[in-house]
Amino acid sequence: MKDYNIDNLTSILKSNSATVVLFGAGDYGKLALYALKTFGIQVSYFCDSDERKWGKLYCGVKTIFPKELLGLKPDTHIFICNNYIISVSSLLKQMNIANIYSCTSLLENTDFSKTALGIQSCDIQRKIAFHKRACLNADNITSGDLNIACIDIVVTERCSLKCRDCSNLMQYYVEPRDCDLNLLLKSVDKIMECIGWLYEFRVLGGEPFVNKQLHKVINELVKYENVGNVVVYTNGTIIPRGEYLLCLKSNKVRLEITNYGDISKKYSELIETLKAYNIAHITNRVSKWDDCGSIQYHQRTTSELTHMFRNCCMNDVITLLHGKLYRCPFSAHAINLNAIPIKKNEVIDFSDENTSLDDLKYGIKQLYNNSQYINACNYCNGRDYNSLEIEAAVQVKDPLLLNVYSGDISNPQTKE
Ligand code: SF4
Ligand code: SF4
Repeated sequence: MKDYNIDNLTSILKSNSATVVLFGAGDYGKLALYALKTFGIQVSYFCDSDERKWGKLYCGVKTIFPKELLGLKPDTHIFICNNYIISVSSLLKQMNIANIYSCTSLLENTDFSKTALGIQSCDIQRKIAFHKRACLNADNITSGDLNIACIDIVVTERCSLKCRDCSNLMQYYVEPRDCDLNLLLKSVDKIMECIGWLYEFRVLGGEPFVNKQLHKVINELVKYENVGNVVVYTNGTIIPRGEYLLCLKSNKVRLEITNYGDISKKYSELIETLKAYNIAHITNRVSKWDDCGSIQYHQRTTSELTHMFRNCCMNDVITLLHGKLYRCPFSAHAINLNAIPIKKNEVIDFSDENTSLDDLKYGIKQLYNNSQYINACNYCNGRDYNSLEIEAAVQVKDPLLLNVYSGDISNPQTKE
């Protein structure tokens, strides 16, 4: 990708009436379109790998498919408007397209305060920061720095809901348990000693508020100077009170509430409480999910696995569960449930007191900079634009049967 100064680039784009394409017809594309308009630059096309969008208008601009880029002028300028930086930039390079840009400077230099794009303002800032991190990660994949976008801190396997298709696989836990507080805090301490900067801790479960020690976790996480944000995910069924509420008042903390309609039965009361206590929060009304809550062996080829991993929206979310660090939430829970085999270098164990900090740092780097795929991808439906959409938060009474592939993969055992 090319580095650019926003003033220089926008004057080039204006002066030679260049063709400008936004790769990614989603939220980032919407933001980039708005930003370019404010600089007086016309966008010719969106481009997207999702065939459902091909030929259709997105925000009033036609969406083309990637091969159509070959028919455009060689000096076409393309902004990557998603966080699949490595896969999109290598696709564009294979097409001999030279003018490839990230959206970072463009979005950082745009005032979004007066927009009505349907994206909450703190979410816009968060998206920009994620994009910046994804670009840095792509650029510095082999550099000495270890800067990380997100770490999921799983505080419990328990949930106040029992969703049949939970992407974090809660539906398979028969005897769910909370994390051990000491192990969790010690593990976080070691991780934070190993890394330079962390953009965001995501605190979640299950439902994090069922863990009676949640406030102790949050009060520790906000203390690290090398972390930007602490986001707590909740499903709108529990109202935090007392210490649970007060710990959310830190200016690093934000509550992210998924509103499943009638199922999130305390949603309105929760919003009132957060407003009354002036606690930062974002809400998402969710009625559809990607179908990614099952564990099944898929026998994919190496190139299929690589494609799947590079296009996965969770490939940048490393997960701490019971003192072990995994590359994504699916691999964390599938391994924790003993449903899939463990592969060396894909789990880092912080409970082992004999491992030196240097070795832990090396391990985190290997885990985070792996841009191929992980073993768990062969057991996962994937989380990209091709995922099947299903109804969100369908409730079940009992834990689901679990396919266990730890032994012979062609002959899974089923476990209740
Ligand atoms: S609310 Fe549903 S999707 Fe969310 S963690 Fe609980 S079971 Fe999973
Ligand atoms: S297992 Fe692979 S495809 Fe599934 S969520 Fe994790 S990284 Fe994505």
